[in-house]
Amino acid sequence: MTPLALGATIGILGDGQLGRMLSQAASRLGFKVMSFGPDKLSPAAQVSMASKIAAYSDQEALARFAEGCDVITFEFENVPAQSLDFLTGHGAVVAPSSKALRITQDRVLEKEFARHAGVPTVDFFAVDSLAALQAAYAASPTRDALLKTRREGYDGKGQVWVKGADTIADAYDTLGGKPAILEAKADFVREISVVAARGWDGEIRTFPIGENHHVHGILSTTLAPAPVPDAVRAKAHDIARRVLEGLDYVGVLAVELFVLPGDELLLNEIAPRVHNSGHWTQDGCLCDQFEQHIRAVAGWPLGDTAARGTVEMTNLLGPDILDWPRLAAEPRARLYVYGKDDPRPGRKMGHINRLRD
Ligand code: AMP
Repeated sequence: MTPLALGATIGILGDGQLGRMLSQAASRLGFKVMSFGPDKLSPAAQVSMASKIAAYSDQEALARFAEGCDVITFEFENVPAQSLDFLTGHGAVVAPSSKALRITQDRVLEKEFARHAGVPTVDFFAVDSLAALQAAYAASPTRDALLKTRREGYDGKGQVWVKGADTIADAYDTLGGKPAILEAKADFVREISVVAARGWDGEIRTFPIGENHHVHGILSTTLAPAPVPDAVRAKAHDIARRVLEGLDYVGVLAVELFVLPGDELLLNEIAPRVHNSGHWTQDGCLCDQFEQHIRAVAGWPLGDTAARGTVEMTNLLGPDILDWPRLAAEPRARLYVYGKDDPRPGRKMGHINRLRD
């Protein structure tokens, strides 16, 4: 695609902190940003030139949005894929594609795609009834298995462990009978992720690997570049390339991986967007993941992803943000605040990037 001209308008579906940081990166490159989302004073709306306040399925609002934007992207994988098709039908240039979104917003399609692309995953079973769950659990190679909703789960929500046949019915009820996936337990020694970008011309650039720690299913910290063996790095980068090429992807995505004993890697999930485990790049790389995504969708040259230092990113969840006076005074650290009012427990309110030796 012809590179977007200076001052062109980029539309972003989704109005959370990822949209906010994408908007800030875009404006640094001289673009204007229109955000689209349901909340008037959302983190993204606060920093965008204009914002459309509407539901993601509101076709009238989408049509007007399409008219005002030179390219449209998204920061939220639960935007309906039909809305992307609708925008494309109204002449908008959309990246990543609705095909990439459709696959990655459904955990079963995502894992089927991964296997097809030569990327190993945990053993998994599609579950659409209690009987199917019973059969899946009987076939699971591990006694502990994780039942997850196929769609719309995030940060450990929509997930429940099955630990014995007597817990099956309760687990099924906990997810309210929604279409689900049963995953065998991965006995991982560490969790890592790769954030990578692909341009319209097929060029791929990969950021250094981050090592992630989760607490109650929510990302707590990322350390990057992670001290992983060369073989792990090479395999992880190869997986990112297979995923990007297999989805014919344009933009930034993240691939979350389990590292097993013996350095075998399994794909956990693909996030079709900039990702929390890539926030370290804001202070660890000359071109961070947000700018890289904007460059990719705008048809600009991709930026330099080499690390210029080691960074530990820590999420500030709920009331953690109230400690801002101390955090803001820390040396060798940079504080990011998302502009959300209500610091309820577990809510992502900001993060801090600390330089490490
Ligand atoms: P997810 O939302 O799928 O990324 O899951 C959140 C966290 O739950 C992961 O980062 C892992 O720590 C854990 N988890 C998810 N799936 C599995 C699995 N199949 N086996 C073991 N742990 C898992």
